[in-house]
Amino acid sequence: MISVDEALAHLFSLITPLDSEVVPLGLASGRVLAADAIATRDQPPFAASAMDGYGVLSQGAAPGAQYDVIGEAAAGHGFDGAVGPGQAVRIFTGAPVPAGVDRVIIQEDITRHKDRITVMDSLAGGPHIRPLGADFKVGDTFGAPRVLSPSDVALLAAMNIAQVTVRRKPDIALISTGDELVMPGEAPGPDQIIASNTFGLKALLEAHGARARILPIARDTRTSLEAAFELARNADLVVTIGGASVGDHDLVGDVAADLGVKRAFYKVKMRPGKPLMAGQFGDAAMVGLPGNPVSAMVCGHVFLRPMLRAMLGFEAVRSSRRTARLAIDIGANGPREHYMRAQVTHGEITPEPRQDSALLSVLADANALMIRPPDDAARKAGDMIDYLAM
Ligand code: AMP
Ligand code: MG
Repeated sequence: MISVDEALAHLFSLITPLDSEVVPLGLASGRVLAADAIATRDQPPFAASAMDGYGVLSQGAAPGAQYDVIGEAAAGHGFDGAVGPGQAVRIFTGAPVPAGVDRVIIQEDITRHKDRITVMDSLAGGPHIRPLGADFKVGDTFGAPRVLSPSDVALLAAMNIAQVTVRRKPDIALISTGDELVMPGEAPGPDQIIASNTFGLKALLEAHGARARILPIARDTRTSLEAAFELARNADLVVTIGGASVGDHDLVGDVAADLGVKRAFYKVKMRPGKPLMAGQFGDAAMVGLPGNPVSAMVCGHVFLRPMLRAMLGFEAVRSSRRTARLAIDIGANGPREHYMRAQVTHGEITPEPRQDSALLSVLADANALMIRPPDDAARKAGDMIDYLAM
């Protein structure tokens, strides 16, 4: 048996970052920026008023001071002239600050009669001017790789970047295998269950930037499996689920080998999750996951997510961990790395009482996979422990 890290190193050797494509900014949220975006303008492009009020010279601006209003500056319509001592310009939020003005007095601090204004005693601090380039400047770099958030999209739009270069979405083909499986919504026979793994994995992978295709269920026959593999041929990653053990009906390894998959089959020292199979299927990477519903999802978090990130141009490393304080005492771990279904609330982690790897209801109840290293000693409530957020 090999460790989780050794398994991951092997899986990373099967993939390379995908090529990139250009998409309109409106479709960029959630995509991975593949090339640095460089600002070609300053924001704001001019010193701008931050408030509605009157633009004046700051020197002499005090309660009782009086000014003649000589014009107006609004957003999109600046004031062309210069402003001298004793003069003011009516100014609105977002308007360019006229020459000579270095302070905006908010309108609440002014009384006005015709074109004459007087500063009131309430005069508060200033200058209520956003300096040129305060947000970003020409040449500022927005670095790749990076998953574009809604805030990032807003920033790129402000930079006048209408199209961005992003990684192509990895195309992942998901194949359920088993005579006992039917699709959700179908009427299962008495010996049948619903193929849940492909749906869970599709959701997981798509939440992290892939396009996942659920292929028709492969039956436990060579022809059926071969047909499913054929449909997956142009994918970037082919994931099979089930049929990867050593039972009489576990044909995935044999069929994959016949189709030219250079196979590494191994058991991984983890719970739940062993066995795992991997290889190269034409240009695609191929991973065979265990069929147990919870095992398949845990392997999705532990193996497929980091593979997906590497395909999207991020560093090939384990999924990032967080730590939380154990809420209860727990016993020693065995020789395998254990991913325990757990709940994290307010920085405290509580493992679920039932850890059977067939229980999807427990997985759905959990929001974390608590990581127990191999041979981890017993832990006390209050100890800090690592987990993967789900
Ligand atoms: P296998 O690895 O094919 O022996 O499957 C192990 C267990 O997982 C069996 O109980 C299967 O019925 C179940 N299983 C396999 N594939 C799926 C799937 N796609 N969805 C739900 N359960 C599955
Ligand atoms: Mg099976």
